[in-house]
Amino acid sequence: MREDLLTEIETEYEQIRAENERTEDARKERIRAEQPEIYDLIRERQELIYNALRAIVSKGGDSDHLAEKMMRLTAEIREKLTAAGFPADYLAPVYRCPLCKDTGKVGELIKEPCECLKKAYQKKLREEIGLKSDRQETFENFNLYIFPDEALPGKKYSQRKLMEMRRKECEEWSDSYPKAEHQNLLLTGKSGLGKTFLLHAIAERLIERDVNVLIISAYKMLEIVRRAYFSNEETADEITDAEVLMIDDLGSEPLMQNVTVEQLFNLLNERQNKGLSTIITTNLTMDEIKSRYTERIASRLRARDKWKVITLEGKDIRS
Ligand SMILES: [Zn+2]
Repeated sequence: MREDLLTEIETEYEQIRAENERTEDARKERIRAEQPEIYDLIRERQELIYNALRAIVSKGGDSDHLAEKMMRLTAEIREKLTAAGFPADYLAPVYRCPLCKDTGKVGELIKEPCECLKKAYQKKLREEIGLKSDRQETFENFNLYIFPDEALPGKKYSQRKLMEMRRKECEEWSDSYPKAEHQNLLLTGKSGLGKTFLLHAIAERLIERDVNVLIISAYKMLEIVRRAYFSNEETADEITDAEVLMIDDLGSEPLMQNVTVEQLFNLLNERQNKGLSTIITTNLTMDEIKSRYTERIASRLRARDKWKVITLEGKDIRS
């Protein structure tokens, strides 16, 4: 999990717990004002606990039948609450998640993140990397019927059939990550063929599987890498160390001779050596990649044991 996001979530949980406490206090205050009889019972129960504790400390006192007395009092309080028109658990501790009581952690000796915290983390991560809030762009929602079913020029298959295969390849890659046959993916094809949708669908599936994904445009990515390169203070760790880095629209960024190629090459190299997966989408063909980024980068991406190339063809579906 990303430290920065986790810290934000922990702060949110602190706020939730403070809010819970305020709710508890307000409820207690209301009962004190409106139902003095019930309030007396609460105080009696409180006293019972104090006395029992005192008895334990001094070892002489009488803490017998404590559980029994407590249970009787609690039952009486619940009964009276209901009779007065309140929910029976009106004065019980308030929390949203019964599993972790809003601490975000479960487990006795070994603390693990609660399901609710994982959900909150996924939500925050999805927002952070720019995925649609309603989880629209998933493999399940990938609509093949928007693609024409006539055979592509010179091909035996239609664009729809091709997209069906491509969707399957991307889905299989996501499900088998990190044990996929290829470490990296390159999605190529002209604009409007569905590359970004597929990229987002992969991201959605990986996040579901608790993978840390970073989606970033090539433009923004190279800007961060460049800034870090020329400054002593900044780093590009979030990019070099992202579990799965998704570079959207390679080729749309301004090309700075020597700098862009060098930095892109280093980045791909570093991630490859660390065993981290990278996914790139681009409108460029392999030849165009070669002429824009030199043979050095093109040959990297052509390494068929490391990179799986997923090519999309056909008509721009947006027109
Ligand atoms: Zn929880």
